[in-house]
Amino acid sequence: MKNKSGKRVCKNKKCQKVLPSSYKHRYCEACRNKHAYAIRNTLEGIGALAGIVLVTAIGREINSKK
Ligand SMILES: [Zn+2]
Repeated sequence: MKNKSGKRVCKNKKCQKVLPSSYKHRYCEACRNKHAYAIRNTLEGIGALAGIVLVTAIGREINSKK
């Protein structure tokens, strides 16, 4: 969606910061940093959960062999 001035703004509706025309990204730097941080946290959360599941599965495997 383009506005009349042709200015691009940050896609974050709460931010709406005007982006330079040469700017490649849809989100401003601050929002991109926040977004990256959120993704990292999510991945770490998934990783931790996967680790717990794996450990539990291995534990079951070992116990079942005894
Ligand atoms: Zn922004």
